[in-house]
Amino acid sequence: MDDCIFCRIVSGQIPSSKVYETDQVLAFDDIHPMAPVHVIVIPKTHIPTLMDLTAERMNDCDALMRAVQEVAKIKKIDQKGFRTVINCKEEGGQVVLHLHLHVLGGERLRDELN
Ligand code: AMP
Ligand code: ZN
Repeated sequence: MDDCIFCRIVSGQIPSSKVYETDQVLAFDDIHPMAPVHVIVIPKTHIPTLMDLTAERMNDCDALMRAVQEVAKIKKIDQKGFRTVINCKEEGGQVVLHLHLHVLGGERLRDELN
C-alpha cells in the first residue's frame, strides 16, 4: 500500500523511532505524543481497521497483544500501568487507515470519557 503512511514506515520509506519489531509487528513512538509514553503498535500487513481483522488474521491479533506487553516492559510502564486505545473508522477518530494500537502511559492518565 504505497499511499499508506504506516506501510511506508514498515518499508523504511518514512523514518520512525522504532521501539520493538518482530516478523509480524512493528512498534514506534507516536510523532505527536499525547502522554510521556505514546507508542503505536501495528501489524506489518496492511489491515485497514479493526473490523478487517478477520478470523484468518487472528495470528496478528496475538502478535499485537504480545507486542503491547513487550513495549510496556521496554518503556518501563508495565508495573505502574498504561492504556491501550484502538480508534476504529471515522466516528472512532481513526485518521490513519492501517490498524494500530496506541500505548499510552508514563503518568496518571485522565479519563477521556468523563
Ligand atoms: P489515529 O487517530 O488512531 O488514526 O492515530 C494515528 C496516530 O498516528 C496519531 O497519533 C499520529 O500522531 C500518529 N502518526 C501519524 N503519522 C506518524 C508518523 N509518521 N510517525 C509516528 N506516528 C505518526
Ligand atoms: Zn498500511
